[in-house]
Amino acid sequence: MEDFTFDLDIAAKAADKGLCDHCLGRLFGKSGKGMTNDVRGRIIRDSLGLDEPEECTLCDDLFDLMDRFAENVAENVNSVESDNFLVGCRVDPAVTEAEKALWKELGIEGESIKTELNREIGKIALPMINRPVEFKNPQVVACVDTRFADVELDLSPLFIYGRYNKLSREIPQTIWPCRVCKGKGCARCDNTGKMYQTSVQEIIGDIALEMAGGEEHFFHGMGREDIDALMLGDGRPFVLEISQPKKRNIDLDQLELKANESDLARYRSLSFTDREEVKKTKLATPTKVYRARVRADGKVNKEQVVGVALSFRDVYVDQRTPRRVEHRRADLIRKRRILWVEAEMADDGTFDLTLETESGTYVKEFVSGDEGRSIPSFSEALGVGCVVEALDVIAINDQEEPK
Ligand SMILES: [Zn+2]
Ligand SMILES: [Zn+2]
Repeated sequence: MEDFTFDLDIAAKAADKGLCDHCLGRLFGKSGKGMTNDVRGRIIRDSLGLDEPEECTLCDDLFDLMDRFAENVAENVNSVESDNFLVGCRVDPAVTEAEKALWKELGIEGESIKTELNREIGKIALPMINRPVEFKNPQVVACVDTRFADVELDLSPLFIYGRYNKLSREIPQTIWPCRVCKGKGCARCDNTGKMYQTSVQEIIGDIALEMAGGEEHFFHGMGREDIDALMLGDGRPFVLEISQPKKRNIDLDQLELKANESDLARYRSLSFTDREEVKKTKLATPTKVYRARVRADGKVNKEQVVGVALSFRDVYVDQRTPRRVEHRRADLIRKRRILWVEAEMADDGTFDLTLETESGTYVKEFVSGDEGRSIPSFSEALGVGCVVEALDVIAINDQEEPK
């Protein structure tokens, strides 16, 4: 305590303003360690021989309410699951402005009322909450509105990693808002606000949302397949994000089991993860293996088809943005690598191609040539027009480094 020093002239001027011990001490809050502001205030007042005023002209005796604030904080924080918490508060702007004006007038800069309230409410609430305070990445921020003693919780999102299979050619990966009403609901979408009844996102997201008592779900896939394509094999990595989760320790086995009751999609390898994984998932550029059912516009035999397939080993294709996505993507030419292609005849005029391609390859266009927008193309090499009738993703090679 003995290292607490203050300018007696400034202190006398400040005390003359009719400040409570907290507000008086806080003006000198940056000096003297291991001491609360109200103790500082009392020391100053004692040395000046003054009593604490009836009511503080700066804070309106806000600090008398700290126990109540802390109880509200504890009650709210204890109603949700978290490993840690942090207290924040909203103070009447008139008070923070008056505080700044006082600093200016006295020519000093104290600690802000917000900082003191956050810390002191946190101290009182801590034993009632029994979770550590976390400053950097709190799972719960309890924000006290000091005007109404209201507490609002801000809960950090829950992130769940997994892999999915899409077993239907009729559902998209993510929620697809209705084109006409943009989600509000109209006759076109039967008031669902959506183009499709469900999606890979909703099948698992709706269940997880309910289990976690969250507000909204978001789906971050490692790329996406077309609606009419299946996602087979070991599945595609994704991160499901649940906002404002009241429960964090949800049973992922249970979630997987419930989600897998759907015939449209399958989920596996669920585990809790963090926001960093979303970034990694979004930025990943794995090669992919596809299976394409191709119809040739004319007679082809096995030797021709297999020969052309074998010729595409480590071949770069110049792909101009396909006509089918032209309306939503910039028109440009991209170089993409075809690692290998294997062919198998199905019946007359139909064959199956299995091929591994670099991330971002337009496979349908590589096969058809897209009227000369993809060069070279399977169709061009075969000398016969080709169309992909069905396309499935059979592997996402996210574990391997690109060769
Ligand atoms: Zn005060
Ligand atoms: Zn609609």
